[in-house]
Formats: sequence, structure tokens, C-alpha cells
Amino acid sequence: MTKVFIKTFGCQMNVYDSERMAGVLGADDFEITGDEKSAEYVIINTCSVRQHAEDRALSYIGAAIKDKKVIVAGCMAERMQDELMAKFPRLHAVVGTFNFSNIVSAINRGKKKIFAGITEEKYPVKLRRNEKVRGYITIMQGCDNYCAYCIVPYVRGRERSRDVEGILAEIRQLASDGFKEVMFLGQNVNSFLDAKSGINFSGLLRKSAEISGIERLRFMTSHPKDLTDELIESIAAAPKVCKHIHLPLQSGSDRILKMMNRHYTADWYLSRVRKIREAMPGGAITTDILVGFPGETDVDFQQTLEVMKKAGFDASYIFKYSPRRGTKAALMDSQVDEKEKLKRLNNVLELQKKISEDITKAYVGREVKILVTGPNMVIKTMMEGITDNSKKVIIPGDTGMIGNFYRVKVTRAQTAVMEGEIIK
Ligand code: SF4
Repeated sequence: MTKVFIKTFGCQMNVYDSERMAGVLGADDFEITGDEKSAEYVIINTCSVRQHAEDRALSYIGAAIKDKKVIVAGCMAERMQDELMAKFPRLHAVVGTFNFSNIVSAINRGKKKIFAGITEEKYPVKLRRNEKVRGYITIMQGCDNYCAYCIVPYVRGRERSRDVEGILAEIRQLASDGFKEVMFLGQNVNSFLDAKSGINFSGLLRKSAEISGIERLRFMTSHPKDLTDELIESIAAAPKVCKHIHLPLQSGSDRILKMMNRHYTADWYLSRVRKIREAMPGGAITTDILVGFPGETDVDFQQTLEVMKKAGFDASYIFKYSPRRGTKAALMDSQVDEKEKLKRLNNVLELQKKISEDITKAYVGREVKILVTGPNMVIKTMMEGITDNSKKVIIPGDTGMIGNFYRVKVTRAQTAVMEGEIIK
């Protein structure tokens, strides 16, 4: 059997796309290996969101291509196509974001080396999953929002939702394979709409919750402009839907939000936070913050810190703005100096650390219910579990506990992780 190794860069949606490709290859005559050295083909699934991610992928391609047949897939493949071929003439093939289901054709290629551009997307029901407890499912692709800094609409195309039946078939497969949690992925899951059935995101959550065996449903990412009161209430009312919302803020300055083309104000954002807190007491809110967007002054930046304090995020993913060729922001004047961006990044990190610590410390002595997902990566003798509101808790135990729920008393808390013991 021909051995294939897949290396994934980037977000959870890329992990899912790699699982999709592995599912397609596994159903054909290929063996997916975790050992790159023994592989004949190396597929590098890439990310274009930041320059740093592209640089890392380029150096990985450069090293792998010396003794492997390399296929570059994903966002960089869609964005750079001919440029990649020119840079790496020995490249076996390029597979863009619409073409993952054509991965076998790309391996067995004739003269055609570039598989990119819009084509019919197919999703296998049986993917080759990396995890055993939580299954990720991309429910929609692309984005119509065109935030000024973001490359996604250009590399993943316009927003399109999958059909509900295909998603439900994947969930049933996960349930029969013993998975307990499903996480829906999409650039903007709130605006999910299956045009054929007319089922929207609330409807999809309702139908998915009917599938027995799956105990928890999660989703990410939500766009603040589309997070209506009605949707918040339906999430709050559904017992299987986890009480954690990832809601990217990006900036707390209305002026910068406008320049970013985000279509909400800081007040609207905070009204969403209040509504979530009211409807889901004890629920978690996490966010993305982008510092150093072109023209961001110290006053704008202070406004971001203020919104962070008011919102009290459980966690933040914090990024330094990096210009992406082809986006509006890359052409804007007054790009912020790198040193200043770094300073702002550190300020946000520091503030978030303090907020997160206060939140997790308040859990000490409390009882929580966790789903054990696997061994902790740092303390290998401990098992790791996750609460409904996405808090990580580590407990003594063994791999026989994976996939089971436990009631745990929290005994210690750090910024992002808590320790606990099982309540007998
Ligand atoms: S909502 Fe904005 S940041 Fe998110 S994927 Fe779409 S364009 Fe990019």
C-alpha cells in the first residue's frame, strides 16, 4: 500500500480537512502513516491567515521536497497555485480548498498538477479522525464578511452551508464510533442555512441533539453581528449544547471596528456579552483580539483593554496584525510599528492572564462535571477532561477513563488549567 503522511498547519478547520483527505485516501488504496520517514507522499495542509504560518509551511515544504513527493493543500495552495509551482518545480501537486475530495486524483495525477478553483465539494461520512472523544465537523465553508484584514474569503470562497442530512449522517457515524462530543466548525456558524431544507443553525442544533450517544454539542466561530437574542436563548435552552461561546471581539474601538468592516460597535458587542451572561449563568465567553491594525492609536488600544475588562473573557486568542496581500488593510496607510504591536500584544496577554486567573481560582472547592478526553500532555500520569463551559481539568487516573464523564471537585487552579479529584 502506498504510504501517505499528512502534516497540518493552522486552525481546527484545517485539521478537519486533513481528516477528510485521510478519509478519502483510506477508502482508496492508501495507508495513512504517522511516520513521515516511511511515507512516499507528504501532503502539507497549509494556512494563510498570518505571514508567519505561511513562512513555516514554506520551510516545511522546502525540507520535505528533498526526498518525498510533496502535495501542498489548503489555503496557501488556493492562494499561491502557480507561485508555489514556480518556487518548487518538483512539487507533485497543489490542492486548493475546494478540492480536498480530489486528493486521489492529485496523487495519481497525469499532466495536471494544479487542482484549485471552485468545484463541487464532497464530504465523506467516515473521516479518519485524530481524536476518539470529540469529533469536529465543518458545517459551512467560506465567508461573506470581508473583514479588511482577513484572507479567508479569498482562499475559502463565498459562504456556503452544507446540507443538514450530510451533517447528521456524520454525527450518527461519530455516535456509532463511540464519540461523545461533536464540535461544529465554520467561519460564521450563526449564519448557517441549508438552502434545500431551510434549516438554520438553531434548527441544526435541535436536530443534532436528537441523536443518541452524542452527549455534547459545541460550535465555533460566532460572529457578534449575527448573534441574535433568539439564538442565544435557544443555545441556553438546549441541554446538550455546551455553554461556551467563542465571540471574536478583535478591537474595542468603534473607529477601528469600522475600518475592519466588522459591522458592530463595542456597545453592541457588550450587549451580546450581557445577554449571554443573563441567559447562561456560569457559561464561558472566549474571544479573539487583533492588536496593531493599521491606524490603531493608543486611545483605540486602551478602548480594547476596557472592553476586555467589562466582558471578563474566560480566555482570548491574541494576535498581532500581519498584512495579507490582497486584503484591504494591507493597502491602508499608517501601519503600526512592530515594536508597538508587540508591546500591545504583551499588555493584552497580561490583562487576559489576570482575568483568567481570577475566573479559574473561583472554581477551587467547587464541583464540576468533566468528560475525560485523554492523558495530559504535560503531566503524562494525569488524565485531562473538559467541562461543559470548556474548562480544562486534570485528574489522577488512567486511559480506561477516556470517553467517560466524572464529577470532580476542583482542588487547584492556574490560568488555564484546573486540578481536581473524582467525587466517589
Ligand atoms: S468573519 Fe471576518 S475574520 Fe472571520 S473569516 Fe470572515 S472575513 Fe475572516
